[in-house]
Amino acid sequence: MVRRSNNRSLVELKELVVYAILRDSKCKECGKELWKGDLLFLEGGHPLCLSCADFDQLVYLPRGDAALTRRARKYSPLTAVVVRFSRSRGRYERHGILVSEDALERAEQECLADGEQRARRRERDELRRAENDRDLIARMSDAILGLFPDCPLEEARTIATHTARRSSGRVGRTFAGRALEESALTAAVVAAIRHRHTRYDELLMSGYSRTDARNSIRDAVDRVLESWRYPNRPG
Ligand SMILES: [Zn+2]
Repeated sequence: MVRRSNNRSLVELKELVVYAILRDSKCKECGKELWKGDLLFLEGGHPLCLSCADFDQLVYLPRGDAALTRRARKYSPLTAVVVRFSRSRGRYERHGILVSEDALERAEQECLADGEQRARRRERDELRRAENDRDLIARMSDAILGLFPDCPLEEARTIATHTARRSSGRVGRTFAGRALEESALTAAVVAAIRHRHTRYDELLMSGYSRTDARNSIRDAVDRVLESWRYPNRPG
């Protein structure tokens, strides 16, 4: 839903647009300095501060809660969409809307009433996520042991759990696939070895830069990696 509205060009929106500016500017009417990050309205190509544009009774509602945004917009007699130019994407992107305070309050009350229902849905989502996590942890442990047969089982599990937890919430099929790639698994194992089998943490605590600390423990990490990878098995 959000993505669709993002892709519509601003011309089509026929909405009042307020810009979060990337460069300092100045209100043409009152002369107020506008700093980077401030909101600005363009009138006939000239920048106006929100007071001069008659928007300063409005409050800013960042995007992210679709229901709240929809309701606040519905109840607000005056709204403007807040956009900011994304240099990386080369286009303006919506960051939120300006709405009247009354409208926002009314919208929040309605959303609160829905809160119980949403809490139940959140529980279901969390349950499903936990199941995905467990599945990923098991697959990841197996994959680690496949690459490093002599890595202690407990350690493989700890690494997998830590990695899966850090990625909690993005355990989609794509993410799981990437996490199970050899390079990603090796990176996770190396990170764990640094902290558990070398003086890495100690070096960081004593003021080493990350790069220097990593350089000075590289051999120690490699030794552990090799001992897990090519075990000296009898026979
Ligand atoms: Zn002004």
